[in-house]
Amino acid sequence: MAHDAPQATGPSRLVIRNIGLLLSGAMEKPILDADTIVAENGKITAIGRFKDVNTEGATTIVDANGTTVAPGLIDSHVHPVAGDWTPRQNQSNWIDSYLHGGVTTMISAGEVHMPGRPRDVVGLKAMAIFAQRAFWTLRPGGVKVHAGAPVIECEMVEDDFKELAAAGVKLLGEVGLGGVKDGPTARKMVGWARKYGIQSTIHTGGPSIPGSGLIDKDVVLEADTDVIGHINGGHTALPDDQIRCICEGCKRGLELVHNGNERSALFTLRTAREMGDLSRIILGTDAPAGSGVQPLGILRMVSMLSSLGDVPAEIAFCFATGNTARMRALDCGLVEVGRSADFVIMDKAQHSPGKNILESVQLGDLPGVGMTIIDGIVRTQRSRNTPPAGRVPEIVGR
Ligand SMILES: [Zn+2]
Repeated sequence: MAHDAPQATGPSRLVIRNIGLLLSGAMEKPILDADTIVAENGKITAIGRFKDVNTEGATTIVDANGTTVAPGLIDSHVHPVAGDWTPRQNQSNWIDSYLHGGVTTMISAGEVHMPGRPRDVVGLKAMAIFAQRAFWTLRPGGVKVHAGAPVIECEMVEDDFKELAAAGVKLLGEVGLGGVKDGPTARKMVGWARKYGIQSTIHTGGPSIPGSGLIDKDVVLEADTDVIGHINGGHTALPDDQIRCICEGCKRGLELVHNGNERSALFTLRTAREMGDLSRIILGTDAPAGSGVQPLGILRMVSMLSSLGDVPAEIAFCFATGNTARMRALDCGLVEVGRSADFVIMDKAQHSPGKNILESVQLGDLPGVGMTIIDGIVRTQRSRNTPPAGRVPEIVGR
């Protein structure tokens, strides 16, 4: 199993040159006028034209060969369990497979598929701390998995949240997957979480599997989580009028997932656009789940929203990068000096009809991934999962 991520040994200086198109991840300026990036010890230190940037002393030189560089994609909604294995579909190396779909960071919405998952307060706290620690230490393929997301139960008190935060837990699992399914209790606990710096999300819509329950707009709005988890359902979405109520009734993140209702995702997108609120849109897969594992799920969402939702492709990539990074206070997701040097390098897939990568995505095709980089280290070259890219970047010097 690809458990041991390559680590930087000693100081590193990465130069990526000959970039054809540089996507920033920021909706206010999605395309940067630059062809070169320099990163030192895993952080971006310069972005500009080759002639204006000091590229001396590189330990790794990547020739992008005219391809597109974007921030590594962020999956805002996954359900990891332990290592690079999921019991949900009994599959190994699923995280490594996502890396081949351009995903460099994942956020756990709860380790709910753990066999025998404890539901008592001591047990659920222990499991959250364990998952946080384990995925902090382990980065399958190099992917940063932010895990340790407890599923709240009615017996919890404020001190439990204080203790979790002090132990390093920074996320709640989807509210509604545990015993707390009513608005007032959810609101009280989400407030405690927020007080101690723990981010929250909620399961929106109908039950996901037998035994889970409905979370409607009233519970969602009362709970007031930081992110409206899968507002397009996971799988079963709320009716459109309830989705509109949620969009209009709060300013929280609107998460669209691959394993949800695609029509409802497009309805949410249109509603957010009418409101001038596209910066609230973030993307996830909600996998592993009954629908399986989707290594290309985030790319598929970008392409689906761009092509069917009439969003320029460079903006749709922001949904999966900068929007999520800002909402979740991550140090990646934007091509910006000081941020983590996490990138996906892509090109138009071979034989896609668009004249460039942006047009091909707007026509509904997936791009081909040619390389992924995390913390300034090349992790993968030509993707084993995407359609083959027309052009691929090359490592030309070390
Ligand atoms: Zn859910």
